[in-house]
Amino acid sequence: MRLAARQYQYLEALGIDVYKLREREDLEGTGLKPVPGRAADLKSVPSGTLTAGVVDGSAGTDAPASQQEDRATLDWDALQHKVAECRLCPLHEGRTQTVFGVGDVNADLMLIGEAPGAEEDRRGEPFVGRAGKLLDAMLQALGLARDQVFIANILKCRPPNNRDPRPEEVLACESYLVQQIHTVKPRLILALGRVAAQNLLKTQTPIGKMRGKQFQYGDPPVPVVVTYHPAYLLRAPREKKKSWQDLQLAMTIYKEQT
Ligand code: URA
Repeated sequence: MRLAARQYQYLEALGIDVYKLREREDLEGTGLKPVPGRAADLKSVPSGTLTAGVVDGSAGTDAPASQQEDRATLDWDALQHKVAECRLCPLHEGRTQTVFGVGDVNADLMLIGEAPGAEEDRRGEPFVGRAGKLLDAMLQALGLARDQVFIANILKCRPPNNRDPRPEEVLACESYLVQQIHTVKPRLILALGRVAAQNLLKTQTPIGKMRGKQFQYGDPPVPVVVTYHPAYLLRAPREKKKSWQDLQLAMTIYKEQT
């Protein structure tokens, strides 16, 4: 099966009207690298009218001096080790293992979710449950495999009963995510869901008001696009179209970066 045909299948799985797709030639050069034959529909994005809601979400400046020092000196392996050993908040008591993140440490696109669930806690990898399968399909629809991006979470340990992360847990974990972003140096961050977006961008804005816009994180600023969490999309499949538009927006912004 040709890749383009497979991408159509993913788009259908996402509930996207495939008849809207442009001819493949029109899609060349629209986005992320390396992308063989991506199936993007930029018609659905009002390019040039992107809202620039700029938020400086540079996290970690309040981190204790000892942690800030670590960010400058730790290499990736040491950071992984430090996360694996972390006992900064009570979540370490209930975890099977930490979930550091997965993918290409040099990825252009970084995806940030909320926290590990039961399956992720068991396997030590983010987004491996049902929501993860949908996330993989969303990536595939962009012509990207999981190992071409980097996927991390706000929290590295599973909160009990999948409850929302508490502010003190987010704070305790924050320097790890800051270090990950600092090392990966993505051209674009995609925040998956309300918890990820609000904590990353330090805002209480509802997700419905954040999606469809461009934000900035850190210094130098990295563009951030917010979309619905795949677990929410499983519960509300009608929102998949909006999520697809968000992915298109992400690609448009990415293109503007290069
Ligand atoms: N939901 C998340 O936000 N992250 C995961 O890793 C799994 C589910």
